[in-house]
Amino acid sequence: MKAEIICVGTEILMGNIVNTNAAYIAEGLAGLGISCFYQSVVGDNDSRLGEVFKEAAGRADVVILSGGLGPTEDDLTKETVAKAMGQELVLDDKAWKQIQKFFEKRNLKLTDNNKKQAYVPRGAKVLYNKNGTAPGIIAINDNVTAILLPGPPGELIPMWDDQVAPYLRSLSGESFYSEMVKICGSGESFVETDLKDLIDAQDNPTIATYAKTGEVHVRVTARGASEKEAHKLVKPVVKEIKKRFGSKIFTTDENVTLEASVMQLLNENKLTLATAESLTGGMFTSRLISVPGASEVIKFGFITYSNKSKRKYLGVKRSTIDKYGAVSEQCAKEMAKGCAAVTKADAAVALTGIAGPDGGTDEKPVGLTYIGVSVLGKIKVKKYLFSGEREKIRESAAAAALTLLRQCLLESLTERTFSVK
Ligand code: ATP
Repeated sequence: MKAEIICVGTEILMGNIVNTNAAYIAEGLAGLGISCFYQSVVGDNDSRLGEVFKEAAGRADVVILSGGLGPTEDDLTKETVAKAMGQELVLDDKAWKQIQKFFEKRNLKLTDNNKKQAYVPRGAKVLYNKNGTAPGIIAINDNVTAILLPGPPGELIPMWDDQVAPYLRSLSGESFYSEMVKICGSGESFVETDLKDLIDAQDNPTIATYAKTGEVHVRVTARGASEKEAHKLVKPVVKEIKKRFGSKIFTTDENVTLEASVMQLLNENKLTLATAESLTGGMFTSRLISVPGASEVIKFGFITYSNKSKRKYLGVKRSTIDKYGAVSEQCAKEMAKGCAAVTKADAAVALTGIAGPDGGTDEKPVGLTYIGVSVLGKIKVKKYLFSGEREKIRESAAAAALTLLRQCLLESLTERTFSVK
């Protein structure tokens, strides 16, 4: 089965909003093992939308559209698609009642326009909307299935999860099983190169890689007559990926984040942590604190942005800064050491770097970062050169610090028994 995505909205076309719906739907399709070769964005214009829809319907079995289901004049997805499919719009009583209830509950005044949202192509399957007024629609003719979804992600996502994904699953008559392998400490191109033979040979299961800041996620999806059968096909591929990436894999659980996996390591081994951040200004600590149970682990966090604060609170020597600079291996080492000593935490992480856009030199360019990690007295410092804008550099540094801390914890704890889930 082939699917295609069309996102409707002039705001997306103009760059006013980021097309997160396309990403969500595309990832959902990949998880269902459904091929998607094209995505389009089109403004609120009926003739252009009609053209794009016809083109997509000529290529794909299922066309998924987001946006333009609202009550106003420029919301014309439903009308355009129904026309292209040769279907008449009729009032859906249940949708109309739900819209009336939605307004009543909120003490809002209904307008004639709102009734427009309750019209659906004759014979369509209606996806009732618990989070807004516009119902979603599944319209089918001899050539294509069109799935129309509301634009707001808060409405589209639950509608996708609860109604569209199960529908697509049932349509194929097959079951799907998918696992997400999450890798840290390797870039996407390295991961793809290491998996090239598997990716080239992929058919069932399929393998898709997704680059995140400081992480690469690999989704393995198989289809089979039953979920059990699909699971059986996924298993050896995941096993092979695990063999190739070893401890760089921090989880195969879709819902586990890198920070949660680091927290789990600290928690399970009853280790406390303190942090000293310069360029990241708390970003690294904040990621860890977002994990429930952080209070058991995090002892203290310093934001030592100035040289003076690095000296005063962490005991970095003036001579170190004079000789090597604040962005140096030596300074990162003293920051980590001082942070652990002052707080008496079992582990400490220190970050120092140049986030830019100013402050770089030939010798020390923007993006240069040193991360120091101390675990039970053993200190490791690593040098990085991140690229991108200031925010991207800071985010990359925070992610790299999580990876380095995890690596140091694994190295230091190899004698103990622990499990990486
Ligand atoms: P409404 O009833 O709210 O008008 P709608 O189905 O007509 O819903 P749009 O008017 O196209 O949807 O978009 C409403 C809002 O939803 C947009 O302002 C935007 O914030 C969000 N949105 C729309 N499309 C996307 C998209 N592709 N990705 C992310 N957000 C989107």
